[in-house]
Amino acid sequence: MITPLMPNYARSELAFERGEGCWLVTAGGRRVLDFGSGIAVNVLGHAHPHLVEALTEQAKKLWHVSNLHQIPDGERLARRLVEATFADSVMFCNSGAEANEGAIKMARKYHASRGEPNRFRVITFEGAFHGRTLATIAAGGQKKYLEGFGPKVEGFDQVPFGDHDALKAAIGPDTAALMIEPIQGEGGLRVVPNEELRYLRELCDQHGLLLILDEVQSGMGRTGKLFAHEWAGITPDIMSIAKGIGGGFPLGAVLAVEKCAAVFTPGTHGTTFGGNPLGMAVGNAVLDVVLAPGFLENVQRVSLVFKQKLAGLIDGHPKVFEEVRGFGLLTGIKCALPNGDVTNALRDEGLLVVPAGDNVIRLIPPLIVSEEEIGLAVDKLEKAARLIEASLVKGAAE
Ligand SMILES: *Cc1c(COP(=O)(O)O)cnc(C)c1O
Repeated sequence: MITPLMPNYARSELAFERGEGCWLVTAGGRRVLDFGSGIAVNVLGHAHPHLVEALTEQAKKLWHVSNLHQIPDGERLARRLVEATFADSVMFCNSGAEANEGAIKMARKYHASRGEPNRFRVITFEGAFHGRTLATIAAGGQKKYLEGFGPKVEGFDQVPFGDHDALKAAIGPDTAALMIEPIQGEGGLRVVPNEELRYLRELCDQHGLLLILDEVQSGMGRTGKLFAHEWAGITPDIMSIAKGIGGGFPLGAVLAVEKCAAVFTPGTHGTTFGGNPLGMAVGNAVLDVVLAPGFLENVQRVSLVFKQKLAGLIDGHPKVFEEVRGFGLLTGIKCALPNGDVTNALRDEGLLVVPAGDNVIRLIPPLIVSEEEIGLAVDKLEKAARLIEASLVKGAAE
């Protein structure tokens, strides 16, 4: 018989009752170290006092009014994002997929409004992940997410990662935009090199294409800058964000330069819940902490410590771990054994990680993670690796 909760997830047996910083606690009192952050969401960990206060204070006053009225905290959050980024204007929504839908619609509308409605095609990259709506599974182009859901939404052309000839060949008179994650998250923590991002920016300028960056996973401080593209010294025309911006509250946004944002005139695009007072209170509170002096520098410092320790770990366990992947605190390891087995072994040791494509495990702790907690996580990785190695030896002997 089917479960009341639909069976579209293979869940672990763990159920948590509360959390505190980088730790989650089950009803039975078992504490586990959370290096998954609810898939790169809880940037300030669990039950961060500043977020708890912002949400509860707002909850006593006003939850939702719709976008038919002024939302002063939304104006404030938009202004702060505009000040901190390339963007001239911001629209809020509820999730990463919805932010990407908005970004894709904006790129299409931009060209249509300039008399070129034929330019609706978006070039994306193999291994991409942009969400689970009909358009974003077409953008991601992954067979496993497309199969069985009818014809793929028209207008997406996918090219191999880093293949400039294929990329140039894919650009045609109907191309509207390039869309890419600066660091592929679900795809296995593949980092787009800075020079490659600069090349894509140049190519877009040459062909009059818009550059859409999907920073749903790589943004909100995860790489030690507010957004990952800042490392390359380029700016996109449109950027989607979500995950970290709400610190656990469902929140996403589309950020854009003026010429793009201006096509979203009243009635062209919308959302009922997006940008509601609860979400805006939390989004502002997340920014208070992430933009505070020294916060991002600390993420950079801790990431380097983590990376060095991971390099040492991998050298010692070549039968389990293959290589370090990713950048900043969007990091992980390509495994030599099935990543699901490694994930389970780590969970037994009290460390939560998130599997990704290309046989990678993601180690994506809250950005408030301490050096001590990094050390603890590496100890747990070490112990799990030794147990796996012992079972390999035993398996070979039998
Ligand atoms: C998670 C993710 C999405 C989808 O976000 P949802 O909130 O699950 O819709 C899109 N793009 C990237 C890069 C992501 O990591």
